Amino acid sequence: MLRIENITKSFAEHTVLRSVSLDVEAGSVTCVIGPSGAGKSTLIQCVNHLERVDSGLIWVDGRLMGYEDKGGKLYELPDRDIARQRRDIGMVFQHFHLFPHMTVRENITVGPIRVRRADRATATARADELLDRVGLDGYGDRYPSKLSGGQQQRVAIARTLAMDPKLVLFDEPTSALDPELVGEVLAVMKDLALSGMTMVVVTHELGFAREVADRVVFMADGEIIEEGITAEVFDDPKHERTRSFLGRVL
Ligand code: ATP
Ligand code: MG
Repeated sequence: MLRIENITKSFAEHTVLRSVSLDVEAGSVTCVIGPSGAGKSTLIQCVNHLERVDSGLIWVDGRLMGYEDKGGKLYELPDRDIARQRRDIGMVFQHFHLFPHMTVRENITVGPIRVRRADRATATARADELLDRVGLDGYGDRYPSKLSGGQQQRVAIARTLAMDPKLVLFDEPTSALDPELVGEVLAVMKDLALSGMTMVVVTHELGFAREVADRVVFMADGEIIEEGITAEVFDDPKHERTRSFLGRVL
């Protein structure tokens, strides 16, 4: 579903991603862990083309992101086409970025109506179904400011799902939440994982990673230090840096 091949990214003279490659199978959950500054967020932003890579290629569902391949020669796509490619990729951030002047239901329907050209009745029915799915049945008429952080993040997940993404990228979706609200968001994410969604999750919630992830990627200093089946990375890390990271946080 997602193939990242040798991507490199620098900000000025600071190299943030060094030849990172990763394959994510359809229907799988990959958790990306690692210390602050490792390049985890940058990696996710590059997949979504919110950041342009300096070199390397990214395919989502078999389609090369950002470029058109004309007889083996690559041409950069115009922004409008990149925006279209990006629609297949859901993003859930640490801060929920809900539209404050819209109700919960409007937050969920605005994308499908404006971007996917869904009719209002269909989009509304779908929004209510998604609200039910994230445990917020009956919250459609409220405004985001009247919800807890955990509820807002669950709305953000429903909003992402309303666009029927092929892949959902999460960047520390629970890091901004009070500890008692983390569990409800992780539960929704686990449910989504069980439904077969392809997910890449940057997280410090190692309990979640261990329980839900199929594969774990450990990054540090812009590189993938170690990557593998969840149980193997947690129980028998091959690399000293993974071992010391896990030892420190577990
Ligand atoms: P954290 O766990 O703190 O979120 P991270 O692994 O997500 O860390 P990134 O946010 O990807 O790390 O950042 C990697 C490095 O790139 C950091 O040194 C950061 O300062 C730098 N960086 C990120 N974005 C930019 C930017 N827009 N301009 C300059 N430097 C940046
Ligand atoms: Mg980050």
